[in-house]
Amino acid sequence: MRLPKFEYFAPKSLKEAVSILQNEPSAKILAGGTDLLVNMKHKVECPPAIVNIKGINDLDYIKQDNAAVRIGALTTLKHIYMTSLIQEKLPVLAEAASTVGSYHHQTMGTLAGNLCQQNRCKFFNQSQWWRSARPTCFKAGGQICHVVNKKEICYSSYCGDVAPALLALNAKILVTGHKDSREILLEDLFSGDGKAPLNLNPGEILAEIIIALEEMDGVSSYIKFANRESIDFPIVGTAFWASMENKEYRVAFTAADRKPLRAHQVEAFMNGKNLSENILDEASALAAKEAKPIKTSVYSTTYKRRLMGLLLKSTVSEAMRRAKS
Ligand SMILES: Cc1cc2nc3c(=O)[nH]c(=O)nc-3n(C[C@H](O)[C@H](O)[C@H](O)COP(=O)(O)OP(=O)(O)OC[C@H]3O[C@@H](n4cnc5c(N)ncnc54)[C@H](O)[C@@H]3O)c2cc1C
Ligand code: SF4
Repeated sequence: MRLPKFEYFAPKSLKEAVSILQNEPSAKILAGGTDLLVNMKHKVECPPAIVNIKGINDLDYIKQDNAAVRIGALTTLKHIYMTSLIQEKLPVLAEAASTVGSYHHQTMGTLAGNLCQQNRCKFFNQSQWWRSARPTCFKAGGQICHVVNKKEICYSSYCGDVAPALLALNAKILVTGHKDSREILLEDLFSGDGKAPLNLNPGEILAEIIIALEEMDGVSSYIKFANRESIDFPIVGTAFWASMENKEYRVAFTAADRKPLRAHQVEAFMNGKNLSENILDEASALAAKEAKPIKTSVYSTTYKRRLMGLLLKSTVSEAMRRAKS
C-alpha cells in the first residue's frame, strides 16, 4: 500500500510548527505516525500536507515540579511506562501505555499521538479496495453511515488506551496555537463527534499533559480487555483511581462510546461509600447504562456493556489490593 502524495514540513520548534499549520489549515500533524500513516495508506485520511513535529527537541520529557507531573507531547509510550515515577506513583498510566498495540507502537507512538488518534469503525479502518464494495461513508467523505442509516452522524468509537487512564487522573492538557496557549481539562479535548473527534482549533498543537501532584496519593489501575494479548485495540478498557481515605473514586472507559468516557454518574454513586460487593454490583449496572456503545466493531453492544461492569469490578479489586500492600 502506498501513501498518497502530500507536501512535507519538518519544523524545528513549536512556534514554527504552529505557524506552518496556520498557513496550511488542512495539514495533519505527524508524531510517531503509527495511526496517521496507516489511515493515509488506507486512503481514509488524505491530507494535502504533513507537519512532522518529531524534530522538535523540547517536547519529549517527563518532569515534576511543585504542582504537577508534566509530560511532553512527543514522549513515547515506552518512555512513560519505563519511568519509575510513573510506575510507582501513577500505575494506571504505566499500565495503559504498556498495553498499546505492540512494542513497535510503544516505541514509536507518542502520548499526544495516542490521545489524538482517530476514532475507529469496522467500515472505516479498511483498505480502499475493501471499502470500494460500498458507498463511501460520512467519515471518509461520503453521504451515508453503514452503522446507523438514519442520521447524518458518525458513530465511530474512540479506542485509545491512554485517555481513560489520564481521565481517571483528572489530567489537563496544554494546547498551543498561533496567538496563545490554553490549559484545558483533557476531558474537554474530546468532542463526541465521530467525524471530528477533537476540540482543537485549526493550527493548534497538543503540547503538554499535566497531572496534579495530589493524584499520586491515590491508588489506581487500568485493565484492557482485548481479543489478543498484543497488537489489538481494546474491546473495552477501564481505568480506576481512588483516594481510599476520602472515599473519592474516578472511573473512565474506552472503546465504549464516541469519546473516552469519564463515568460521572458512576462516580457520583460510588463517592463517599465503602466499596462493598453490593455497591459494586450497582455501580457496574450503572456503568453499563452510562455509555452508548454502537456496533462499530464485531462485538455486540450488550457484550461491551457487560464487560464494562466486569472490568470496573476488576480494576477496583486491583486498586484495593494495591492500597493494602
Ligand atoms: C496495528 C495497530 C494496533 C494498534 N493498537 C493500539 C492499541 O492497542 N491502543 C491504542 O491506544 N492505540 C493503538 N494503535 C494506534 C496507535 O499506534 C497509537 O495510538 C499510537 O500511540 C499513536 O501515536 P503516534 O505518535 O504514532 O500518532 P500519529 O499517528 O503520529 O498521530 C495520530 C493522530 O494524532 C494527531 N497528533 C499527533 N500528535 C499531535 C499533537 N501533538 N497535537 C495534536 N494532534 C496530534 C495526528 O495528526 C494524528 O491525527 C494501533 C495502531 C495500529 C496500526
Ligand atoms: S459510524 Fe458510520 S460514518 Fe462513522 S465511520 Fe462507521 S460507517 Fe462511517
